[in-house]
Amino acid sequence: NSSRFAGQTAIVTGAGSGIGKAVAIKLVQQGANVALFDLLDDRALETETEINRIREGASHAFDVDIANAKRVEKAVLETVEMYGGVDIVFANAGINGVVAPIEDLSLEDWQKTLSVNLNGTFLTLKHSIPHLKKNGGSVIITSSINGNHTFSSFGMSAYSTSKAGQVAFAKMAALELAKFKIRVNVICPGSISTNIDQSTKKTDHLKDIVIPVQYPEGSQPLEDGPGAPEQVANLVSFLASHEASHITGAQIVIDGAESLL
Ligand code: NAD
Repeated sequence: NSSRFAGQTAIVTGAGSGIGKAVAIKLVQQGANVALFDLLDDRALETETEINRIREGASHAFDVDIANAKRVEKAVLETVEMYGGVDIVFANAGINGVVAPIEDLSLEDWQKTLSVNLNGTFLTLKHSIPHLKKNGGSVIITSSINGNHTFSSFGMSAYSTSKAGQVAFAKMAALELAKFKIRVNVICPGSISTNIDQSTKKTDHLKDIVIPVQYPEGSQPLEDGPGAPEQVANLVSFLASHEASHITGAQIVIDGAESLL
């Protein structure tokens, strides 16, 4: 459906890779203009080039660290200047951060993960709200089954805490923003093939953690391996669309039953 989002503008954070990139491509294929927020490395610019082959000018890469309040505020304003408004927000950028036993995790490392995953989600939504209010809109936040449905990713206490926090935040936002016809939903993917492992910093101490139960990492009853970013993009597109007009405050698992193992 190439006109599903005709005339609409989306902000996608973490659009240079993985799930964010697949969602940005999908939304453009379905008619939206997309502001690509990422740490402006080659990948975000590559996404822009790839997307603009689908439709010239349909996307623009913005150099944004989502944990930086001033950068987020400025990039949202630049998006509105460029495309005329904001209708869809996909607050998705995130990092695994330092993976370590709690006693070895420094306060700095704990705060780094929370600052990208949790503060970044807050800042992205906060600065988009004045624009979403104009015509209503749809916000989708990428959390995870980690911290919500499974707790077996050893050493990922900061990540899991940030992912649980995003769910509470999404539900608060859904209630607060319903009167403006702004829907807010949160998705909890299981393992998806992306570059997220590049954002993992492991410590030597991790091997000391006793793992009581073990099953192959990322194994999913429905698939042989992890899911694909495009499978997540299909869900995000649905949630962003008018077809999901009665869905808000929902927490949706997309994991091929991984969290039921
Ligand atoms: P990815 O590493 O492929 O993509 C994440 C993107 O976010 C990268 O392009 C990166 O540059 C960007 N990013 C990181 N920090 C940023 C910052 N401070 N400001 C702006 N951009 C930043 O990973 P992905 O798997 O596509 O991750 C997307 C989201 O999905 C994350 O929130 C992650 O926690 C969540 N998630 C992933 C999986 C999985 O298995 N891949 C599972 C559950 C949830």
